[in-house]
Parts: sequence; C-alpha cells; structure tokens
Amino acid sequence: PRGANINIDENIFPSLPPLLHGHPSIHLRNGVMNASRAAANRDPDAERAFFVADLGQVYAQHLRWQACLPDILPFYAVKCNPDPYVLRLLAALGTGFDCASNGEISQILDIGVDPSRIIYANPCKAVSFVRNAGKLGVDMMTFDNIDELYKISRAHPRAQLVVRILADDSKSLCAFNTKFGASLVAVPGLLRKAKELNLNVVGVSFHVGSGCYDPSVYTDAVMRAKTAFDMGTEAGYHFSVLDVGGGFEDASFEQAATFLTDAITTYFPDRHGIKIIAEPGRFYVSKAFSLATNIIARRAPVTEAPVNDEHSGRPAVMYYINDGVYGAFNCILFDHQTVHPYVLSIGGSFHVAASEPVTNSSVWGPTCDSIDCVCPTTQLPGALRVGDWLAFDNMGAYTVCAASQFNGFEVSKVIYTTGGFAASEVRGVLAKFVEDGHNC
Ligand code: PLP
Repeated sequence: PRGANINIDENIFPSLPPLLHGHPSIHLRNGVMNASRAAANRDPDAERAFFVADLGQVYAQHLRWQACLPDILPFYAVKCNPDPYVLRLLAALGTGFDCASNGEISQILDIGVDPSRIIYANPCKAVSFVRNAGKLGVDMMTFDNIDELYKISRAHPRAQLVVRILADDSKSLCAFNTKFGASLVAVPGLLRKAKELNLNVVGVSFHVGSGCYDPSVYTDAVMRAKTAFDMGTEAGYHFSVLDVGGGFEDASFEQAATFLTDAITTYFPDRHGIKIIAEPGRFYVSKAFSLATNIIARRAPVTEAPVNDEHSGRPAVMYYINDGVYGAFNCILFDHQTVHPYVLSIGGSFHVAASEPVTNSSVWGPTCDSIDCVCPTTQLPGALRVGDWLAFDNMGAYTVCAASQFNGFEVSKVIYTTGGFAASEVRGVLAKFVEDGHNC
C-alpha cells in the first residue's frame, strides 16, 4: 500500500546488521533500507529492475530445515544463488557448502569458511581444479567414473571421495541422470579401481534432480545408497558419509523430510559413525527473492476495446519490461520455470483495485531477440502504462546466477531486507521500494 510503514523487527535476526556492515550502498533504518524520493527523481536508475532479497526468509528456511531434518547437515548449493549476503548468512548459521568449481570454492573460502565445510560436488572436474582444491584443503569431492579416479590420484591423492550414484530423477523439473551418476552395476568396479589407486572413498551421494515434485523418490534413492554402502564394505572401505543431494521444494519440503527420515531409519538403522549431509539449493533461496520490473514499452491497439490480433495470434497488449530471459528470467529456459507477474503500480498509482478489468496480454524482455518472452499469455489490467511496475515472486533460485548482459542490459541489482516477510506482505515491500526510488 502507498506509503505503508514497513516495520522489520531487527531482533528477529540480531546477527544480520554486522553481515551488512560495511556495504556502502545499504543503510538500515527501522529495519528498512531507506531511500529518498527526491534522490529518486534525479536518479535515472530509478526505473531499473531490482530484486528485493529478504534474508530473514533465508533464515526462516534454515530454521525449517533444522526442525524437519535435524540430523542432516545442509551444504548449500552455491550455484543456485551465490549472492554474497546469502552466503555470509549461511556461513554464520553454520551450514556447509556444495561447490562446483574453483570460483565457487574461492568465494566460500574468501568469506572465512573452513575448507572442511566444503564438498566439491561436481563429478567431472578439470584436473587443474582438482589440484587447486587439494592445495586449498578442500578434500571432500564426488566422482562417478574411472577417468576421474585417475585424475584425482594424480592431482589430489589425499581426497576423500564420495561416489555419486544414479537416482530416479523422473519426478523432477531438471533431470541429471543423462549427465551424472554411476549405476549400481558400475559401482563395484569403480571401488575396486579406487582401492587399486590407493584412494580413500568415504561415502555415497545421489541427486534426485532439481525441483523434485514427488518426494517419495528419496525412499528409493536411500535404498540404492544403502546398496552402495554394502558394496563399499565388500571393497574394503568403511563408508562414513551419506550425501542425499538436493531437489528439495518449498511446497513439499515437510513431506520430503518425512520420506527421507523414514528411509534413513529403514535402511540405515545403525547410523553410528555416519555423517549425513545434503546439498539443498532452491529450498533456501527461491522464496527469498522477488523481482520488480518496470514497463519500458507497450504495444496495444489504438482502439479503446482491445481485441486479439487474429492475424498475428498475439495477445491484445504486449508489455516490454526491463529484465528478460537473457537476465533473471533465464530460469524460464534453463530451469523450466513459468513465472507469474503481478501489478505493483497502475497508471502511476500504487492503489491497485482487485476489480481492475484485465486483458489478454503478453510480457517481453528488453532485448531485440524474440525468444526473450517472459509470459506468452497472461491476464493483466488494460490500464497498465509505460512506467508502471510488474513484480514476480520466487525469483531466488537459478536466476541472477546465470543472468547475462546480452544487448548491454545490466543484471538487475539486489536490495536486502531482513524482514522475514510473509508472502502477502511482499507486494507492499516492493511497492515501497519503488515509491522511494529504490536507490539504496
Ligand atoms: N547438488 C548438485 C550436485 C547439483 O547439481 C544441484 C543443482 O544443480 C544441487 C545440489 C542443488 O539442487 P536443488 O537446487 O534442487 O536443491
């Protein structure tokens, strides 16, 4: 609502201000980053698209994780969103980190995390990256093929290896089996080779695929992991790490936790000496980021009552916003997402009546490429004009991390809050930042 006073209880997360301390462009006042409207009026950047990252929401997810899976240590998947404040927050909360490259490892070590809290969870690594991990003291890493074992025996023979096995990924948005994972049939051979090379294999990992919408698959995956553990014993190893990967979805998290806990109890009744870890990504950050975008252009019929253009098949009104699939909305292409815009301002006003008449519309990104389509059809108020704002929730996972600057468009900036806002409050938060010029 216009001029709403957003109160954030800073006591919710007392350790946050020190994390933000020293960032030149962030000022906490009454818990809200403050910006002056006068400055916004002078600031050509005031129309720029921006994320609002609610670090309180990340913290809330961590509490949820601890409540449901107290015996599983999360190693946050950095690739999902390497936002520096998210990483520092999670580091302060004591999570580990799943890194996929030299760059991610450096980012985590640079914030003071001990290398023992990192798993290098990319089964196919460049040999120079393996060597570098060894130099930096990052010992735990995954593998799923023989060539990787030869490589590791040359570049980092002291590594603690985790064999990544195939899991059923058919119930997930993003499947990984075509690229990664050893079949159970292949595991004994891999372990024999590892023994021959004098390598230390310490456990088993799997990934049910990212964005898993049927969490019952964790049961089968844990059963397979148990079989791989037994193969380890036969090969002369004593495994001590079970890595249950990622795939956790916000909506089905509690259910997934129940399936996992039950499966672990069934297949690992005696867990003494076994450390159980996971590699959650989207669960931690998806909800925490919302994106506000400005309508920079609009194509609409000249007539008052818009109708669909029968010849082109286009929706009646086309809105062009200042972020697109080459930017934050790359999640549409790479992460198979569908996004849903909602209105922050209409005709320049932040009062959006629920009864506002809507028109069949489409939403497009700012580049000159026609693949840059954010929503091919959606219902939006016909009264929306250039300069108005549309927003999108659940934009924290696999968005900003893969955004490009194609056509010279900058990646949308991030503004941080600590509110732990409920979903119903997010619109008000975004509208407030837009009103204030969000130049903080
Ligand atoms: N671990 C590995 C090895 C991955 O490749 C990924 C995602 O690509 C993740 C963890 C994170 O998965 P999610 O975001 O579904 O939790």
